Amino acid sequence: MMLPKRAEAHMVTWLMQTTLIIYKPDCIEKKHVGNVLERFENTGFKIVGCKMTRLSPALVREHYAHIADKPFYPPLEAFMLSSPVIVMALYGKGAIGKIRELMGPTDSRKAPKGTIRGDFGSDSMSNVVHASDSLENAKIELARFFKTEELFG
Ligand code: ADP
Repeated sequence: MMLPKRAEAHMVTWLMQTTLIIYKPDCIEKKHVGNVLERFENTGFKIVGCKMTRLSPALVREHYAHIADKPFYPPLEAFMLSSPVIVMALYGKGAIGKIRELMGPTDSRKAPKGTIRGDFGSDSMSNVVHASDSLENAKIELARFFKTEELFG
């Protein structure tokens, strides 16, 4: 069987994958963790890692290095540090692409109803969850937030 090129690998729907989710401070504060997790589990994804943690400024900067030079980065960092977060590893068929689909686009105001951000998010910063956007980033992000022995895949 031909494997897709690396850049397209997150789009495949049949490959078993693990992806990294962060339940952001707005999700915790508004008590939507259960609602969001229900969607992931109902779509067939299994928890293979989970913990609550307080992020550090250095970790937020590393995680959001691709946008650290944007004007909205300082408020974003403050938002990510404003409460503990839950980090979760989810496993299943096509997990990376499917969970990005369930999550919806970055700006919650533009996210369609029925998506997690469309239903529970507020704006382009307070948008409920982070989810890895590629196979390559999922590997990097899982290693960023979990030790090998904390993953049960
Ligand atoms: P996504 O989380 O959808 O993959 P990005 O990687 O572009 O989006 O951005 C990372 C996070 O930065 C977003 O989830 C959001 O919390 C925040 N963000 C992105 N764009 C903006 C913006 N224009 N204003 C405020 N915060 C933003």
